[in-house]
Amino acid sequence: MKKYQLMAPGPTPVPPNVLLAMAQPIIHHRAAEYDALFREVREGLKRLVQTRQDVLVPACTGTGAMEAAAANTLSAGDRVIVVNAGAFAQRWLAISKAYGLTVIELSAPHGETVAPERIAQALRENPDVKAVLVQHSESSTGVLHDVRAYAQVTRGTGAILVVDAVSSLGIADLPMDAWEIDVVVSASQKGLMLPPGLGLLALSDKAWAAAARSTLPKYYLDLTEERKYSARNEARFTPAVSIMVGLREVLRMIEAEGLQNVVRRHDRLSRATRAGAEALGLRLFPKTTASPALTAVEVPAGVDADRVVERFAASHNITIDGGRGPTKGKIFRIGHMGYVDDFDVTTALAALEQVLRELGQPVDFGASLGAAQKVFAERG
Ligand SMILES: *Cc1c(COP(=O)(O)O)cnc(C)c1O
Repeated sequence: MKKYQLMAPGPTPVPPNVLLAMAQPIIHHRAAEYDALFREVREGLKRLVQTRQDVLVPACTGTGAMEAAAANTLSAGDRVIVVNAGAFAQRWLAISKAYGLTVIELSAPHGETVAPERIAQALRENPDVKAVLVQHSESSTGVLHDVRAYAQVTRGTGAILVVDAVSSLGIADLPMDAWEIDVVVSASQKGLMLPPGLGLLALSDKAWAAAARSTLPKYYLDLTEERKYSARNEARFTPAVSIMVGLREVLRMIEAEGLQNVVRRHDRLSRATRAGAEALGLRLFPKTTASPALTAVEVPAGVDADRVVERFAASHNITIDGGRGPTKGKIFRIGHMGYVDDFDVTTALAALEQVLRELGQPVDFGASLGAAQKVFAERG
């Protein structure tokens, strides 16, 4: 028997108290009980997203919320900038194509980021651009883009900044209002420690003004309609009731820990994982700021990263993930977001040492654990 460990960069483990809450009989979304739940969740989400705007919670995955962000703020033929340095950015490209948007692509190699000055220059050259579409944490490469600096570029222009925060909300600091981000998009199954199935969206006043002008077709994910219902504390359609019950639990947990402590914990887990991998002589994939949500690691020459992922599963019953597209076979990715603590990281590192040895690599057993333990001992 091997205990199962989910350490992929999403979906992530759901805490037992949240699982238990979600196992309760389904309540009706027009009943008083749901009324109180929805009110508490709406208030908690504002604090989580650090916004005074209502956070909308359609039943869909992160991609559905991304699509809703584009369909609700733009019109056919609009020009948008896509910051492309990974697989999730390609989702912005695909959505833009599906809706007939004209894309200006600012790309960087996977593992790198796009300097804010490039966005500033593109906006100067193309003053008609209506939106800048970016990831905060690009989960395919393990890079954290500097959306705070991007927002300093878009504010005061006609363009809104739309941030895919699916693998950063509840993980990295993202004060929407203070940083003047226009749309925050997220989902339930990463930092929020919930099953997949719930999208999250918050729009700034500037984004709502864009929504009023938007002519792209939408019905199920019409956020202007959704907002009207939400303002009355009502659900427009049948909500993902069980996930909402879990979300109330999660918001209470995050509040009890303190949002800034949650951010600090993820930073510590990330630094420990990176220190552990480096202590084994492995190279980290990001050439710039690493995302606190996951660690992307290059494999030594002669090793196929997909074999590392396979071995984690076959020998140790741990799910991690490999690379996508250009990084397939070259990197593996360990998630440490949500319901994760110090010793989940040491478990993953101990397994990594075993797997490298299984694949015939020289391993100084304990080296990665020692490096991680030193990070944990720093405290604070
Ligand atoms: C997980 C993830 C998504 C969401 O994908 P879905 O499968 O549609 O929920 C989007 N963007 C990023 C950066 C992600 O990590």
